Amino acid sequence: MGRLAPSPTGVLHLGNARTFLLAWLSVRSRCGTLLLRIEDIDGPRIKAGATEQTIEDLRWLGLDWDGEVFVQSSRQVLYRAACQRLFDMKLAYPCVCSRKEVDEAASAPHESVVGVASDGPIYPGTCRGKFASLEDAKQQTGREASLRFRVDHDQIPFVDGFRGPQSGSIAGDFVVQKRDGGPAYQLAVVVDDAAQEVNEVLRADDLLPSTPRQLLLYRALGLPEPTFTHVPLVVGHDGLRLAKRHGDTSLRHFRNQGVSAATLLGYLAVLLGLRTKLTPTTAQELLAGFDLAKLSIDSVRGDDHALL
Ligand code: GLU
Repeated sequence: MGRLAPSPTGVLHLGNARTFLLAWLSVRSRCGTLLLRIEDIDGPRIKAGATEQTIEDLRWLGLDWDGEVFVQSSRQVLYRAACQRLFDMKLAYPCVCSRKEVDEAASAPHESVVGVASDGPIYPGTCRGKFASLEDAKQQTGREASLRFRVDHDQIPFVDGFRGPQSGSIAGDFVVQKRDGGPAYQLAVVVDDAAQEVNEVLRADDLLPSTPRQLLLYRALGLPEPTFTHVPLVVGHDGLRLAKRHGDTSLRHFRNQGVSAATLLGYLAVLLGLRTKLTPTTAQELLAGFDLAKLSIDSVRGDDHALL
């Protein structure tokens, strides 16, 4: 069982379309089941209408899924229960530090034990063991507390389906429940993948640093672990992650310019090294002979607008 897990934070662009196509090809080429989960818990970043638009864009591309669409915002009870379990097992503790305070502590010269990991500052453990409960933290400090997971490992090695063995460096205690009571991405994704029996996670490699944290949560909650495959991001001509400065690479833009789904899929197929020439195709046609191992490991450049 695989999944497509878009966050409705904007429109689908070439980069995430390519990742979803790969997730679809990987599962469907082995006749597996695929679900669609809308990851709409990232409050302020969620855009009105983006869920409907994402679903529309995936359908337009010819990517399908099985069963109902899962929506994370309607599953808060499950996330709360998982956080409560972690707290009861003393694996998560209340923390009142703001992001700014963590940043400052991590960059302070005298804090020799902390630092900055590839995906953010390392939490220096300020609130470890300080508060008996979320309420206690609120009473003592006047601040709402988040719950932070205790990390007592430096590394959680794992084998990535595309990149092979990974050292799985893990950078400090991380938040599982935000101060507003909502789940952090790391927690929600683990609870959902387990509940929805996902055993194959394929996503872009910007999430590679998250995997060791998620493995720790699977183990702490006694849940079966999926396999993880991280595929290179699509980058612009400057080697940086595809973004607005590279022009409009949204599927909507290409559609408005009269580009057909078949042409766009042909282009994605070239980006993936599945085809050498830009010829219109369908997702179904790309299934024949699909093999993840044939993809180029390098990040793919996707802003040359060969499509228009
Ligand atoms: N919703 C996440 C994103 O769009 C993906 C999460 C995942 O695949 O684990 O970046």
